[in-house]
Amino acid sequence: MRELRGIAASPGTAFAPAYLFVDDYNASIPSYSIASQDVEAEYARFAAAVATAKEEVAALRDRALAEAGADQAAIFEAHLMMIDDPEVAQNVRDGLGASLLNVESVVFAIEQKMIDQLSSSQDAYIQERVSDVHDVVRRILGHLLGRERLSLADLDRDVIIVAKDILPSDMVGMARDRIKGLAMEAGGRTSHAAILARAFRIPAVLGIGPFTADVKPGAPLVIDGDRGALVVDPDETALKKERAAQNLQMLKEKEYAGIRDIPAATKDGARVFLKANIEVPEEVDAVVEQAADGIGLFRSEFLFLGGHIPGEEAQFNAYRKVVESMAGKPVTIRTLDIGGDKVLPELGAQDEKNPLLGWRAIRFCLSKTEIFRTQLRAILRASAFGDVNIMFPMISTLEELIKARGILEEAQWECRSRGYQVRVPIRAGIMIEVPSAALCSDILSKSADFFSIGTNDLTQYTMAVDRGNEKVAYLHDPFNPAVLRLIKTTIDAARSAGIEVSLCGEMAADPYAALLLVGMGMRVLSMSAVSIPKVKSFLLAHTLEEAESIAESVMGMTSSSQVTTFIANRFSL
Ligand code: PEP
Ligand code: MG
Repeated sequence: MRELRGIAASPGTAFAPAYLFVDDYNASIPSYSIASQDVEAEYARFAAAVATAKEEVAALRDRALAEAGADQAAIFEAHLMMIDDPEVAQNVRDGLGASLLNVESVVFAIEQKMIDQLSSSQDAYIQERVSDVHDVVRRILGHLLGRERLSLADLDRDVIIVAKDILPSDMVGMARDRIKGLAMEAGGRTSHAAILARAFRIPAVLGIGPFTADVKPGAPLVIDGDRGALVVDPDETALKKERAAQNLQMLKEKEYAGIRDIPAATKDGARVFLKANIEVPEEVDAVVEQAADGIGLFRSEFLFLGGHIPGEEAQFNAYRKVVESMAGKPVTIRTLDIGGDKVLPELGAQDEKNPLLGWRAIRFCLSKTEIFRTQLRAILRASAFGDVNIMFPMISTLEELIKARGILEEAQWECRSRGYQVRVPIRAGIMIEVPSAALCSDILSKSADFFSIGTNDLTQYTMAVDRGNEKVAYLHDPFNPAVLRLIKTTIDAARSAGIEVSLCGEMAADPYAALLLVGMGMRVLSMSAVSIPKVKSFLLAHTLEEAESIAESVMGMTSSSQVTTFIANRFSL
């Protein structure tokens, strides 16, 4: 038995065999010269890989037709047509003869050319084909390179995933009911793998550091997402502990069910609105189940990360489903926040030296206005079905906000001219997640209808620390006085301007942080649905006066360790 420690990223425990997930596609594609007499043999390798890919896709199409319906099956039908395209085959043959390079590099070059052509199109439908090309080529290359194409979508048994890192796009499509836990070398509490694990209620331990090479496929594992521990080859005592933790969790859930319909407030009645963060529309059922006060953050980019770029109709249907399910409660849809660790080469995003400081979020949307306007139209059309707010991510200057609002106006006009009903006026707010925005929140408050503080990124950018890098995770701490001061500045600016301010970073899900924030003047918190009862029950047990006195003490402190020690003493942790 061996116990490994990491970051407690998503609560819950489980016992299941290990499944090693290694996605090799991003490893470099080998490139080497071939002799002209080898061209035919290289082409034959390509033809064999295509034949295997064809069989696989046909099987996926049949499964989709049986389990999901004709629409899903049509995706694979389109893939089959691409695989069979004689023009592509001819291009491969010509490319081999002209370059005298191995077939993998020829196929890769053809893919890049196709992606460039498709993504530079102004037509959203054509742009959407990029992800299909990527998917098909990835499959063929996988066979050429003799690598098993691993997909978390095809799992047919219960497992705990063991990985170095997992892209959000791989997590979106995974078979959630089969995945009992997630253990990763990289990642922190606010990395997107952690956020998705909590959303999908999968216990997760991240940031373990190098360990995957020492775990055998199928090895028995116990994961403990509350303590941040992973036990390899557990003994009887470890298994007993795991069963006890499961029982305790069931008891807690019963207790939480008792406060489900009580409005969230402090003990002395100061109302605090507890909203939910969601990543994919299916999560809305859990939000309704927890009786959340609305959706404070819909991370719309996850609709784009599942392998297919959704067009206006598909987006509209997704937003409408969420809005209607919330039955009049407010829903804040954040516009596309890609870049950083949420990479989407299909949309034309490029490799960057510093992706976290690069072409992300609103910066990307302001230069890809067709994609942005398409999304805004879809959100505006969904706004006719409930109480919808639009939120722009990663605003760093007033100019960006003004430009974004200008494009929103164009989209409103386009909707009206096409005869669609939209909510008027629609509230458009911004995320405060860059220090420049927090410092200038008084300026921004004149042009934004609301603020939502994203402490995951605000901490990352204030402390100059990559939120997904386990080696520097100690710096990613929202209790640092620098971050707390920026939060306070933002709350005060919003209050003086008379606009709503909320907080939707992971900090909101920590009951102690939530009480502190209430003491600082915050009345709206947004978190993963699963965290709502824990925060609600804690707030119900403490008064506003207590919260304010904690905030007063904490704002005078000089370090985050001083804050955590103070909280630990105060609540006898
Ligand atoms: C944040 O940065 O705090 C936030 C809520 O956005 P995301 O985690 O999606 O970057
Ligand atoms: Mg963010």
